[in-house]
Amino acid sequence: YIFSILAIGVIYACNPSARPNQGKDPQILELMSKMSVEQKAGQMTQITLSKFHEDGNLNLDLLREAIIDKNVGAILNTNGSPLTVAEWHELLTAIQDIATKETELKIPVLYGIDAIHGTSYTKGSTLFPHNIGMGASRNSDLVSQAAKVTANEVRASGIRWNFDPTLGIGRQPLWSRFEETFGEDVYLTSSLGGSAIKAYEEDGLKNITAVASCMKHFIGYSTPQSGKDRTPAYIPDIQLREYYLPPFETAVANGTSTVMINSGEVNGVPVHASKYYLQDILRGELGFEGLAVSDWEDIIRLHIRHQVAATPKEAVKIAVNAGIDMSMVPTDFSFYNYLVELVNEGEVSLERIDEAVYRILKLKFDVGLFDNAYPEAEAIANFGKPAYADVALNAALESITLLKNEDNVLPLSKDAKVLFTGPGANNIGALHGSWSYTWQGDNESAYNIGTLTLKEAMIEKIGASQVISNAVADYNNPTNTNTSFVKNNAIKADVIVLAIGEKAYAESPGGIDDLTLDENQLQLVEAAVATGKPVVLLLAQGRPRIISSVEPGVKGILNLYRPASQGAKATMEILFGDYNPNGRQPFTYPKNTGDVVLYDRKHSENYKESEPDTYGLGGFSPQWAFGHGLSYTTFSYSDLKLDKTTLDANGKINVSVTVSNTGSREGKVAVELYVTDLYASVTPGEKRLKKFKKVGIKPENSTQLDFQIAAADLSFINQNSERVTEEGEFTLMIGDQQENFFYKK
Ligand code: BGC
Repeated sequence: YIFSILAIGVIYACNPSARPNQGKDPQILELMSKMSVEQKAGQMTQITLSKFHEDGNLNLDLLREAIIDKNVGAILNTNGSPLTVAEWHELLTAIQDIATKETELKIPVLYGIDAIHGTSYTKGSTLFPHNIGMGASRNSDLVSQAAKVTANEVRASGIRWNFDPTLGIGRQPLWSRFEETFGEDVYLTSSLGGSAIKAYEEDGLKNITAVASCMKHFIGYSTPQSGKDRTPAYIPDIQLREYYLPPFETAVANGTSTVMINSGEVNGVPVHASKYYLQDILRGELGFEGLAVSDWEDIIRLHIRHQVAATPKEAVKIAVNAGIDMSMVPTDFSFYNYLVELVNEGEVSLERIDEAVYRILKLKFDVGLFDNAYPEAEAIANFGKPAYADVALNAALESITLLKNEDNVLPLSKDAKVLFTGPGANNIGALHGSWSYTWQGDNESAYNIGTLTLKEAMIEKIGASQVISNAVADYNNPTNTNTSFVKNNAIKADVIVLAIGEKAYAESPGGIDDLTLDENQLQLVEAAVATGKPVVLLLAQGRPRIISSVEPGVKGILNLYRPASQGAKATMEILFGDYNPNGRQPFTYPKNTGDVVLYDRKHSENYKESEPDTYGLGGFSPQWAFGHGLSYTTFSYSDLKLDKTTLDANGKINVSVTVSNTGSREGKVAVELYVTDLYASVTPGEKRLKKFKKVGIKPENSTQLDFQIAAADLSFINQNSERVTEEGEFTLMIGDQQENFFYKK
């Protein structure tokens, strides 16, 4: 006996992986030792709250059936409409009463919510600009502040798990969720997404100021080839690793607790069925140890949509064996029933569900649900603090981007008579965008709690007597009443301001076939231009809608993105000159729908010069480039200095540059450092963003900014899918300044 015990000990000592429980929390293992297969399958099941409603009312019997009979361990979302903090507390108390008092093991329920730009399912919460605007702000601190407010307000609502941030990069502008991305650049997305995750979690998840974050949607979701939501993406491994993986790597390094999986297919394989993505990359390469939740109904879709599973039951087997820990089922118990059968039949191993359940219970322990499952009364004081509106205002101010300012038409004089119309002029949904009190964000009148429309904010700013407006929100009406209003009333105005763009939408309902702005809106702009009055456009939209046919006639253009609760106020601050704009495009704004070329791809003069006939007049001429954004003052760059011109593998180059405000107004500027690899073993990017910093500078003042460049900043994915830094010459650019340096191994 002693010999065999010793022998087992030796085998274990030689092979640590043979001790699956090593390093695991004994409390969780103890709890799991008491759990049946059914109880484990229930923990892996997440159901939507609406499933427990009948005729609009919560039905406790349905809730009991789920939590007690089916052992359900997680719930998400709302019954469609937002709740007050008090209503959330009441709901979660009812749920946790059942879970912790009426079940055998008393395991609390984990509740998850989409608070992707503020606590969008709680009435009275603060909504921040969507990520696309945060990308334009080039301000990591603001992203952190907004995420911290969101953490506080989600937690105050009694919820401890937020399905945010979105880390897909916006490289397909047709995609209806483009506004949820930080734009097209991988470094910008990694930096800002990483800041959000830290802010959500850094206080420690037991703290009432924190929530568990969820990096999503892993991986490749943001670039459906067709542009339609949840349709297949084709991303070569080399591109996947160059552009799509780094934000998730940063997220893992910054401690995100959970991941949500891409609903779609990458290279013909549904990600929910892919061991390559879910195990080899996510667990193996990224070393992620947290919980992997499916997206909405995506396991069953392995059967009904992707057809990699011949039956719904096989879909469950494939997904769980591929590495899904929790199924956002979310409307029935099929997943639960099939999983129990599959485990009993030996088709899914006990080890696999134990791994999943361990991760789920660990999260429940980490967020403090076993200490106190109930909504924390102390957290309520952290809801709706007056200072939150300032964060939302600053975020909107720093994101709104001045795209065009011919003849310095902006800022407008507060004495000007402004004719103001367009479908977005009196429409809160267009400012809020998706996931704003409702999924589609389009029911603004019912739930809006204080957000001004652009028209209301304009009147507040310059007085009703200065504003001539009808502002009918007819986004889709071909016989646009705003057009006749403009023709009839222009005579009375000094300037015409039009709020155009897109109404709110989310996911599939927001699909479009063409980036060109709707014909009726283009006609409205044409009619305004034809009056001879200066025309200014306010673009409230989630993606770059093409306006190249009317742009030449327009004097001023502000891109608002989805600026949310303080967006109208921020817009008027900028429009009438109380704030100097400093946002920069986080994406390339195309001129033609067939001309979507990303800023960091090789696209330029080389092609035109080498093949003028084939490349011809095309080439890369976006409407506005990535990084474009004007100011009411002017900045100049000088004295770009590198402390050395040869960098080796262990070294760093210290870079400094002087930025001067050469105009007459104080302003902020986002200073961007780009690097170009001149020759490399795979076609190098045109230029790549590597650092950014935002600074405020007073008129006639200068400031010196310092950056550091390391060998890793020059790395890229080579033909063998490996990250390498190759010897050679590089150009470093800040503003209009350039220097070359050499990297030597
Ligand atoms: C979306 C996710 C979201 C989930 C829960 C899905 O349709 O793709 O981003 O977290 O619903 O609401």
